[in-house]
Amino acid sequence: MKITRITTYQLDLPLVEPYFLSGGRLRFDRLDSTFVRIDTDEGLTGWGEGCPWGHTYLPAHGPGIRAGIATLAPALIGLDPCGLDHVNRVMDVTLPGHPYVKSPVDMACWDILGQAAGMPIWQLMGGADPAPVLVNSSISTGTPEDMLALIAKAAAKGYTVHSAKVGGDDPSVDVERIEAISAGLPPGHRVTFDVNRAWTPGVAVEVLNSVKARDWVEQPCETLDQCAHVAARVSNPIMLDECMHSFTDHLEAWKRSACEGVKVKPNRVGGLTKARQIRDFGVSVGWQMHIEDVGGSALADTAAIHLAASTPEANRLASWLCHYHLSVDPVPGQGARNDSGVARPPNTPGLGVTPDPDALGAPMEVYE
Ligand code: MG
Repeated sequence: MKITRITTYQLDLPLVEPYFLSGGRLRFDRLDSTFVRIDTDEGLTGWGEGCPWGHTYLPAHGPGIRAGIATLAPALIGLDPCGLDHVNRVMDVTLPGHPYVKSPVDMACWDILGQAAGMPIWQLMGGADPAPVLVNSSISTGTPEDMLALIAKAAAKGYTVHSAKVGGDDPSVDVERIEAISAGLPPGHRVTFDVNRAWTPGVAVEVLNSVKARDWVEQPCETLDQCAHVAARVSNPIMLDECMHSFTDHLEAWKRSACEGVKVKPNRVGGLTKARQIRDFGVSVGWQMHIEDVGGSALADTAAIHLAASTPEANRLASWLCHYHLSVDPVPGQGARNDSGVARPPNTPGLGVTPDPDALGAPMEVYE
């Protein structure tokens, strides 16, 4: 089988409410998403989506995906999309780095491989069944009362796991947030306090050694070095997210005992192929993981849920679904959706999600 055509579409995905990370230092109200359609000489078509979480969150840029695909496309036309490792090596030689550019291409190739094999992606990834995956809410930072009100709202939709954003200007307010939320959670619920890099190591050590709460704490500081320093000095389990870009970063984090878990996000690490390698490493060292994408519609969410559903239950905590933050739905009724606090991957061959052509509009570029 050969790739004969690559088509890109750009879609603005407005958020239902503007999003604030880390005390308001990152605010945005829409996402810039790129949908990628790959056609083959055997009539199979695959879909992928690449969508950074704004352009201040990671070194990833919405328009950069389209620019990168323009560079990659000539090298991809004619390749067998089912040879996923080869496709990834060609992309890495043609355009070193820029993992977020490669993720939607890799995703579309997994969609084709699944259709060719007659298997859903969760099965290709090693899963036994389309297992229900716990989904977690994302609680924007605010006063402790505001944040507990958002958790109550999420609980009413079935969420039992929450990611609460902390990391404001005043460490004493973070202590109040953490204590109030940890103590005020509905019975049986769990929370991760996501700092999104906002603390210096000194503040992280001060805050985490001041609180009674022993819940998970995510990405306390900017770099892996800083997070490893903190992990050695606090009792909370540590989850790493934004500082993890490659397999080597994960190996380094494990060697340095810098965390007990990681967020595995295909768009951050270069696609499902690389996310699966990291997931398998995480299982082998006993990490607990959140497997979800950086952003996007239910299409990108569903790709990540396929990987999550194929991961042993002991090694996954929950997955966030970005599409609940959006006021548009280009894949209406399809894919992994929150069903009383869990999401299941489709059980049809491939990804199991096809965008509505009317929602996508005219292509940005066609390469053949
Ligand atoms: Mg995070």
